[in-house]
Amino acid sequence: MARELKYDVVIVGQGPAGSSLSYFLRKSGLKVAGIDWVDWDRIWGKPCGDAIGAHHFHETGLPEPSGDSLMQKVEGIDLYSPSEEIRVRVRGEGYMIDRNKYGRSLVKAAMDSGVDIYLRTRMGAVVMENGKLAGVKATGPNGETIIFRANIVVDATGSGGSVRRKLPESWPVYEPLKKTDASIAYRRIVELDYDIEDPEYIRIYLNEEIAPGGYWWLFPKGRHIANIGLGVQGGRGYPHPAVIYREKLMKRPDVGSEVRVLSDAGALVPTRRPANTLAWDNFLGIGDNGYTVNPIHGGGMGYAMTAAKYAAEAILEAHETGDFTRRGLWGINIKYMRGLGAKQAGLDIFRIFLQELTNDEIEWGMKIGLMGAQEAYETSVTGELKANLSALDKAQILVKMLGRPSMLLRLRLVADYMKRVKRLYEEYPEDPEQLPKWVDSVEQLYKEYKAKLGVTW
Ligand SMILES: Cc1cc2nc3c(=O)[nH]c(=O)nc-3n(C[C@H](O)[C@H](O)[C@H](O)COP(=O)(O)OP(=O)(O)OC[C@H]3O[C@@H](n4cnc5c(N)ncnc54)[C@H](O)[C@@H]3O)c2cc1C
Repeated sequence: MARELKYDVVIVGQGPAGSSLSYFLRKSGLKVAGIDWVDWDRIWGKPCGDAIGAHHFHETGLPEPSGDSLMQKVEGIDLYSPSEEIRVRVRGEGYMIDRNKYGRSLVKAAMDSGVDIYLRTRMGAVVMENGKLAGVKATGPNGETIIFRANIVVDATGSGGSVRRKLPESWPVYEPLKKTDASIAYRRIVELDYDIEDPEYIRIYLNEEIAPGGYWWLFPKGRHIANIGLGVQGGRGYPHPAVIYREKLMKRPDVGSEVRVLSDAGALVPTRRPANTLAWDNFLGIGDNGYTVNPIHGGGMGYAMTAAKYAAEAILEAHETGDFTRRGLWGINIKYMRGLGAKQAGLDIFRIFLQELTNDEIEWGMKIGLMGAQEAYETSVTGELKANLSALDKAQILVKMLGRPSMLLRLRLVADYMKRVKRLYEEYPEDPEQLPKWVDSVEQLYKEYKAKLGVTW
């Protein structure tokens, strides 16, 4: 016999997206349930690089990591060219966190303020009644069936999209992820037998021979512990990153000098523009399943937190008006797509260009200073190409470009399409009925861009 529980909101998944939402709703007066199949020791257990920019906490109001949750303050990123002869130091504050400890602090704060958290509870099916999403069916710790009924079901289950993938395919939120729009990432957390220099700088290495369509990283967590890993573009037949790690990275003394391995695991990260919609009738999808991730570096924790903030606001609005349909929940799309989503889409256009570059081209671009520290920072903040493009008009740079005229043309194309896609997202439709037309325009723009760039995937 199934146990039936009635809530205003049920949040499936208590990772960065779901637990942030539980935290935001903890004092809302709404009856909220948060469920996750993991136990307390594996909260936020998905493998991650564990790096997050400080601005995400300022923007969302979530508590900054401190005490046990904070492993290393970050002052910036060192970006290395394929030969490692060129290093660009991009300054920016952030944290290396202990994901489990930080995640638990959010979940605990939510529980202490009345959110019901069900751990070791696996959602297996959606409850549909007369074509309407009415809740989810889950299996509790002792094998019992629990039906969670709710006005709004939130999918925060990560890239698997456990709720989304079970909704009718005709719903626009079903939108599947193309393999080439994802990165397969793998990382180890290791204790090293040497002192890491400048642990307050995380390192990113661009090298197509090691991490095709991605990058490899070494993120210090203090002087002796580091999170080291790599991501490769999916769907292109590249070797699995765990194999590359063993066969290539382990040969480097800075990676291979392991005293012990504290954790090793891999997972998929979406690296594309946001899903076309984060809301539908009685449904919200945030975090990796809504593709709310930075397409360039695959950082998804901060984006998940922002999506959770807007989800909380949409949920409150819907409960005020009593409208739980796509119309009542549309506010999340307006806020996300016109703001962070527009920047994300711009960066996605840039990502596609970067994934086509050879080591030789990256080395050359970094050597002539096409993208210095300031430009890299501004591009990441605005979603517009801030390479030395204006300077390209200047004779000095043009001379340097002479050897590579096609690069000049491609850069202009990328800058143009980054602006155009950003504009489209800033004009995200007010009315859900306009969504199909808008999606057509976005798809058309991508088709045109890829054809001009010569991208076939
Ligand atoms: C190797 C790697 C390195 C990365 N590095 C970084 C980085 O340095 N910085 C950064 O910001 N991002 C990084 N990312 C991305 C980041 O980890 C994700 O974007 C982020 O974890 C997404 O949060 P989420 O809440 O959407 O999903 P998840 O973290 O995947 O959480 C989903 C939760 O849902 C639960 N769940 C799933 N299905 C069910 C179900 N059926 N029933 C109940 N519960 C369920 C899971 O147990 C999990 O707790 C990295 C990713 C990888 C793979």
